[in-house]
Amino acid sequence: MRKTRYAAAAIAAVAALTLSACGGGSDSGSESGSTEGSGEKIRIGIKFDQPGLGFKDGSEFTGFDVDVAKYVANELGYPEDQIEFMASPSAQRENMLENDQLDMIFATYSITDTRKEKVAFAGPYFVAGQDLLVPADSDIAGPEDLEGKNLCSVTGSTSAQKIKDEKAAGVNLLEQPSYAECVTAMQGGQIDAVTTDDIILAGLASTDANKGKFKVVGNPFSEEKYGVGLPKEGGVVTCEDINTAITKMIDDGAWEEAIKKNTEGADYTFNAEMNPPKMDACA
Ligand code: GLU
Repeated sequence: MRKTRYAAAAIAAVAALTLSACGGGSDSGSESGSTEGSGEKIRIGIKFDQPGLGFKDGSEFTGFDVDVAKYVANELGYPEDQIEFMASPSAQRENMLENDQLDMIFATYSITDTRKEKVAFAGPYFVAGQDLLVPADSDIAGPEDLEGKNLCSVTGSTSAQKIKDEKAAGVNLLEQPSYAECVTAMQGGQIDAVTTDDIILAGLASTDANKGKFKVVGNPFSEEKYGVGLPKEGGVVTCEDINTAITKMIDDGAWEEAIKKNTEGADYTFNAEMNPPKMDACA
């Protein structure tokens, strides 16, 4: 059932149990399949360039996605030193799970039926809404004002897809590999607006380099339920265990603390009707 790389951990676990049994052993208490103490790492996909959500700051990783990932991983038996954070850009998330490059994704990853054809989701652990980021002096107040404008979003995101599918006919959509690149294009004046989830835009607008230059329109036009992406088959963690961990994080106050800490100083108020969310049933 498990993949080769876990066989070593299993053998190590059995060896440890055998040794403790020989030694007249203390009660190990560890369940079979637990990786605790084995040093086995869990590979978690996050964003590296979304301040406040998933951000690589030198050798540190910060943001709400990162805090939820660390909490959940710890509950599953992987303390921080057993987490390997990897970048999972929007367009590569399904592929990375399908190709066994990652065990879990916490990367502003909306649960959608299309994605569920390729991957599984636990959660949701947050609900955001698609919005627009515009220059501070812009008149754009919603997607209806985008006709003839240059809009930037990210390849493989629900944000770009929604614009293509239904919103704002006559808009020129430029797709970039990441939202940070969209903001750079807007700084240069080539772009009139950037679209993605409100919480992502608020984080980008609040950095020292961008402060005062841009505003989040504050007129969300979708519901983005952030799930924990999992491989459909052969995963090392279960959707049920992840949902239990997220529920615990919400109940013990750590979830709220993480949201507050990571949106501090950003122009952002989350949708309190939708948050904290209830877990979906696992498939
Ligand atoms: N939540 C949306 C999505 O999953 C937009 C943010 C992103 O690209 O990560 O596509």
